[in-house]
Amino acid sequence: MEPLRLFPRTPTTTGGPGRPDGKRYCIWTIGCQMNEAESAKVEAMLNQVGFARTETEDDADVIVLNSCVVRQAAEDKVVGKIGSLQRIKRNNPDVRIALTGCMVTGQEARLRERFPHVDLFFAPSEFDRLVEIVPELAEADADLAELPHYYQPVATHPGVTAYVPIIYGCNFVCSYCIVPYRRGREVSRPFDEIVAEVERLAAQGVQEVTLLGQTVNAYGHDLPDGRDLADLLAAIDAIDGIKRLRFLTSHPKYFSDKLIHAIADLPSLCEHVNLPVQAGDNEVLRRMRRTYTVEHYRERIDYIRRTIPNVTLATDIIVGFPGETDEQFENTAKLLNDIEFDKVHVAMYSPRPGTLSARWEDDIPHSVKHARHQAVERIQERVSAERLRARLGETLEVLVDGQQRGRWRGRTRGNTLVFFDAAGDWLGQLVDVRITEAMTWYLLGEPVAVTHQQRLAPV
Ligand code: SAH
Ligand code: SF4
Repeated sequence: MEPLRLFPRTPTTTGGPGRPDGKRYCIWTIGCQMNEAESAKVEAMLNQVGFARTETEDDADVIVLNSCVVRQAAEDKVVGKIGSLQRIKRNNPDVRIALTGCMVTGQEARLRERFPHVDLFFAPSEFDRLVEIVPELAEADADLAELPHYYQPVATHPGVTAYVPIIYGCNFVCSYCIVPYRRGREVSRPFDEIVAEVERLAAQGVQEVTLLGQTVNAYGHDLPDGRDLADLLAAIDAIDGIKRLRFLTSHPKYFSDKLIHAIADLPSLCEHVNLPVQAGDNEVLRRMRRTYTVEHYRERIDYIRRTIPNVTLATDIIVGFPGETDEQFENTAKLLNDIEFDKVHVAMYSPRPGTLSARWEDDIPHSVKHARHQAVERIQERVSAERLRARLGETLEVLVDGQQRGRWRGRTRGNTLVFFDAAGDWLGQLVDVRITEAMTWYLLGEPVAVTHQQRLAPV
């Protein structure tokens, strides 16, 4: 650790990318981190050809919507958003509108009929198609394919954190899930290409990298040389400048001892595991086609906790799956009470067209789904508050990634949200924060030391 230094970085003011008199684009994104990463790539491509980002759709020359259909509620939001652009297209027929994400795959013809005011539909990762509405991309001298999925939370600052997709698609066929139908089979990106991308990000000043995949720990299964996620993490850990490394989302079936030891041993790899269990009952897991049992899941969690000191755990739960009895739900509640996750993402079951479970009756009434959802939230409120209270008085390393309601906001290595008040510009700093207050979902504290000053990217 560097000596105690409480001077935050001097504020920088730079113009945003693009020319003030040039064209503008607006991007709207919903859904998973993969969508955020892909939107960031679109953003990088448009910046490269001189477009400037705007948050006002009325001012935009190009509008890109990145969609999600994992649940009906997400799909409804996308449909609402597309509808709201009709007015904009009427007022400004020159505006070019594109729709991408999971709503598009295999549905282009149907969508074109339904939304004639949208100019372009392109499936996830089909970035090349953007040239159809942005001809400037054809003349770009830079190699656009080389542009990273660069996540830049504040446009005028060098990025602090970045998402890097490493494997596309999913080879599981969970009975409720539309993802394999919209994202296809697993394709791992070449090992060296990923390492080179992270090296470029590090050179730009990015300090935290999150590797992404629907089943991120299946990485490498389809590659010829036998290297897997743990090997990739080791190679990235060795890159100078990367202070924190994470990966999302893992499948319990492939959460190997080797991977668990990598988390325990690699200095930059954060002590945080996101391992969706979906249900705590073997009969429900079987009908979900999850391919593991509750016993297997509990054994993996035990091994993770034994091997990685201070590890934090997150999971996903679906309530109200077809046929889920009160007793089966109670088994899920018991699992949550026993394991005490730091974070639980809970969703009410939503039938998705084309999936296996959509052929079964969606027989759990909404009121019951809702009550189970509430029950999970109540358990988690208690567990989260308790686990956070245990951190009072500790000093935790926080990477500051933005500001919210006048306070600086960042995350610990365990992915816990921490806020603190302090004058100056702290964006991108790794700060030691002494925890003074614990709320239900986040911590409050005061900075005691800057452990690492961000290297500024050239402007
Ligand atoms: N690959 C990850 C998750 C992908 S989808 C995994 O295996 O867990 C993200 C989350 O959305 C899932 O974890 C699940 O909890 C939720 N989800 C997916 N399909 C759903 C559906 N039909 N209804 C409700 N929630 C769903
Ligand atoms: Fe969907 Fe299951 Fe694949 Fe996750 S593992 S993306 S839930 S099919």
